[in-house]
Amino acid sequence: MRKIYLDHAATTPVRSEVLETMLPYFNEKFGNASSIHGFGRDAKVALEEAREKVAKILDASSSEIFFTGGGTESDNLAIKGTALANRKKGKHVITSKIEHHAILESCKFLEKEGLEVSYLPVDSKGLVDPEDLKKAIRGDTILVSIMYVNNEVGIIQPIEELCKIAKDRGIYFHTDAVQAMGKIAVDVQKLNVDMLAMSGHKIYGPKGVGAIYIRKGVRIIPLSHGGQHERSRRAGTENVPAIIGFAKALELVNKELESQNKHQKNLTKAFYKRLIESIPHMILHGDLNRRIPNTLNLSFKGVEGESVILSLDTKGVAVASGSACTSGTLEPSHVLSAMGIDPAIAQGAIRFSFGRDNTMQDVEYVAGILPEIVQRLRSISPLYAKKE
Ligand SMILES: *Cc1c(COP(=O)(O)O)cnc(C)c1O
Repeated sequence: MRKIYLDHAATTPVRSEVLETMLPYFNEKFGNASSIHGFGRDAKVALEEAREKVAKILDASSSEIFFTGGGTESDNLAIKGTALANRKKGKHVITSKIEHHAILESCKFLEKEGLEVSYLPVDSKGLVDPEDLKKAIRGDTILVSIMYVNNEVGIIQPIEELCKIAKDRGIYFHTDAVQAMGKIAVDVQKLNVDMLAMSGHKIYGPKGVGAIYIRKGVRIIPLSHGGQHERSRRAGTENVPAIIGFAKALELVNKELESQNKHQKNLTKAFYKRLIESIPHMILHGDLNRRIPNTLNLSFKGVEGESVILSLDTKGVAVASGSACTSGTLEPSHVLSAMGIDPAIAQGAIRFSFGRDNTMQDVEYVAGILPEIVQRLRSISPLYAKKE
């Protein structure tokens, strides 16, 4: 059976160039980067080259790049590390309602520790209003964290503008840029952020590795204690092969940013056009223009998202409902709820996220079978019958 993967926002395959770069570091060059002998030095050199590479892409200094165990860990470090290190300065944190759970759960943890968190609303298009941020800031606000690109709907926030509001008042600004990498040219000087989180497996690199940019001078405490790895921000022997793979993956997505954006935009545009023409009562979630090019989040009125996913799965097509982390629960997505989407419609939301290996034939195939699937599910749906 033909297999079509349209779930690149959940994870991506490791590119062969990335895998090849990693392989020698599992056996031939297996040294511990902290050892002072030749094996260790070789690993250390490779590790520092990877750091340089990442720093250069972000316009940061290599001493501001810290490798972690992925996007979740980078977000945890940013939120808990700075909030706990700056408790004397204040106890108030601001984030948004549509963040990834890595941010939201870190904030909930801080609330249990006695800090206070404001969750900014978004409009029906998924955007945070800078005026709301201004209003939420208090004398004791120490950190603002707003995601760059939302993983469920693909919406891009006005990070430069939001960051300026915080920085003008001397407040740290963190952004979860996991979904922005490889889609947007990220420059930490231009954005002026203090911290920025990244992940390997969303950019055709390995899972379980990521990085965080931490601007020089930011007061932060580590989450894990031990040796002096990663300049004492993250104790534990570095996962050298994964880090090298991450840096290579970032280098490649960055190099191909324009051509891939164009390719993936062509695919989603053609896909959306075909569906609009063939499926009535379809709703696109999120602003049509302020989005990354590969992601579409759609609801088909009267149809359960899970049913569409399973029907597509039997035909070899992989898509997601909301975010992968919340599927399996029947609660509507917190992102779509925050956007004010009717729960019955939100239940039917499906995320299509295209990738570099998808083709126009994939678009034709999925757009060809989807109308029939939706029609069949609607014919047995009491929800839809009532509407007609
Ligand atoms: C995937 C994702 C994360 C988590 O990254 P992991 O490397 O899977 O831990 C965090 N934030 C966003 C926006 C994501 O899409």
